[in-house]
Amino acid sequence: MSDIRICHLYPREMNIYGDRGNISVFRKRLEWRGYSSSTTMLGLGDQFNPKEFDLCYLGGGQDRDQNIVAHDLTEKSSALLSAAKDGVAFLWVCGGIQLAGTGYTDSRGQRLPGVGLLDLDTTAGDERLIGDLTLEAELEQEKCRIVGYENHAGLTSLGPDADPLGSVLKGHGNNGSDGKEGAVQRRVIGTYLHGPLLPKNSWLADKLLSWAIEHRTGEKPALRPLDNSLEDSARQIATSRTGMKR
Ligand code: GLN
Repeated sequence: MSDIRICHLYPREMNIYGDRGNISVFRKRLEWRGYSSSTTMLGLGDQFNPKEFDLCYLGGGQDRDQNIVAHDLTEKSSALLSAAKDGVAFLWVCGGIQLAGTGYTDSRGQRLPGVGLLDLDTTAGDERLIGDLTLEAELEQEKCRIVGYENHAGLTSLGPDADPLGSVLKGHGNNGSDGKEGAVQRRVIGTYLHGPLLPKNSWLADKLLSWAIEHRTGEKPALRPLDNSLEDSARQIATSRTGMKR
């Protein structure tokens, strides 16, 4: 089966709350289905080749970390936009969703440029939005409950070209007021959910993997169902922490 190629951006600078665990989920769920995969880590000064990857991942980071990577990331923006246009799957988390937009004004009022993958903008508020979050996500007419953990000062507003990943059932979400969480355009997903997110949310992991496989093979895969009992019990425990039953 095809080799699915994953790009992990700035793993040294942008990796809080164990976000790099999402990469392990991608690779194991591919391996369990007979796909080989490779991960390329790209950092400051590295070139991003839009034709090389099927999936691009960026984890979260504090304002200080975002300051280190933001300008370097904008150097990659035309290649990243070309990859998104070509159907590469993206998952950018928290500090990642903020830098995927038009820009982020951080807690000190410093404006960081975004790459423009998602139609959104972010400005840090006075209070941090922290806690467990449950949302009703919708992708490609499928709905699923997703659970995770958020900790951000950034308040994100979506523009007309971005759909939310879902609606907040418990927690703050993008800005604590409009009931939206995350952003989706084409196969680009931004979300505030740490945890890491994917070990407890196998539906989302498989959605991104099916996009990445289709990008590589040109065909929508019929992913063999896996035994998600461990993942589902982790999700249930996390969901109950938000005060929700199921
Ligand atoms: N530094 C950003 C904020 O405070 C993102 C934080 C994060 O990635 N958890 O909003």
